[in-house]
Amino acid sequence: MNTNLNYYDLVLLNGWVIDPSQSLNGRFDIAIRDGKIAAVTQQLKAYKAQHKFAAGNYLICPGLIDLHVHVYEWKTTFGVPSDDVGINAGVTTIVDQGSSSPFTFSGFKSDIIEKSQTDVRSFLLVNHAATQTIGNTVSGLENPANIDREILIKIAQENPEIVCGFKVHADSGSISRWGMEVLKLAREVGDRTNLPLYVHTGELFPVDEANRPHPDKVVENALSYMKAGDILGHCYSCQPDGLMGKRTQVPEWLFAAIERGILLDLGHGLKFSFETARRMIAQGVLPHTISSDAHGNFKQLHDDSTLNYSLCGAISKLLALGLNLADEIAAVTINPARVLKAEAEIGTFKVGSIADITILKLVEGDWLFVDALEQPLKAKHKLIPIGVIRSGKLIQPNCRLLRDLVAIA
Ligand SMILES: [Zn+2]
Repeated sequence: MNTNLNYYDLVLLNGWVIDPSQSLNGRFDIAIRDGKIAAVTQQLKAYKAQHKFAAGNYLICPGLIDLHVHVYEWKTTFGVPSDDVGINAGVTTIVDQGSSSPFTFSGFKSDIIEKSQTDVRSFLLVNHAATQTIGNTVSGLENPANIDREILIKIAQENPEIVCGFKVHADSGSISRWGMEVLKLAREVGDRTNLPLYVHTGELFPVDEANRPHPDKVVENALSYMKAGDILGHCYSCQPDGLMGKRTQVPEWLFAAIERGILLDLGHGLKFSFETARRMIAQGVLPHTISSDAHGNFKQLHDDSTLNYSLCGAISKLLALGLNLADEIAAVTINPARVLKAEAEIGTFKVGSIADITILKLVEGDWLFVDALEQPLKAKHKLIPIGVIRSGKLIQPNCRLLRDLVAIA
């Protein structure tokens, strides 16, 4: 009789484990107790477990983190149900990128964060643009003159476990109307709270044509308001005012920005171009984080029928474009966890961290993805989530919004 038995709530046996936070890539057993990671070892010995999961056919990663989604359902036109792009898409932590601002943050907290099974965090929008929805005819919500920076700072300081940064747009529309004022304000609130900025790139809001900035200059100019740890969104966008624009060569100022610690995020969204990605990848410019920018229809309340991409889809597409799988897993686990300053809790299998886990199946076949410009991409693999563990609890994702991976039933 062994008196030194270890008792676990759940064990995953013999899975292919990739945990870039500890440079793990191989076969391991993982044990969970009280919602935390209790052990990661090649073979668990002398234990009893309430539940056992044979993981031999699966890739086991720390719970995926999607740094860019929009989940303020009902209050913004484009918000989608949080758990459908979270746990039901194989993602245990999602970060809403600027769907709430000081006008609406308390509702976001009570209606979305507190009601989701998924771990939901927020980058607060520095202006009130997200408040624009059906029936709203108030103009000037993006106007920096309407920003109360003291309230932004107060909300961030009172909600440190939720507010992980600030969202701001460096798009031709807002720059044509307010110059760099919104970025200037974002810089100030970022500095005063020591939180990072997530800077949207690519034309979005209506442009005042008389003041349209030169597309080649938009991102370069925005960078003068950014510092190490800030994030440039939509790095592989096809838009002329994006990072790459129409260029064939990555500009020197972008290499210099990466060198000084500016982080690139995929932010798949509606503008992801395979050709732009190929050009940038060939010159060594890779995303530090991979995110989906999952959102619904901008023009219709509560309509996610237009959403045809996902985080696992984005990973699969970048795999087909030549990225290394372990690097990609880092870009959806430990890298975004560090952006959130949460790397002791999530994005890792370190003993004592939260037992958030994504169970993936690497499916082989001949697949065809299509991008924003309707360009095709042949792929040999797709990563399909078949389970998530959220705080130790095993959940089967419904995969309803994985339209780029799973045929709609
Ligand atoms: Zn977005």
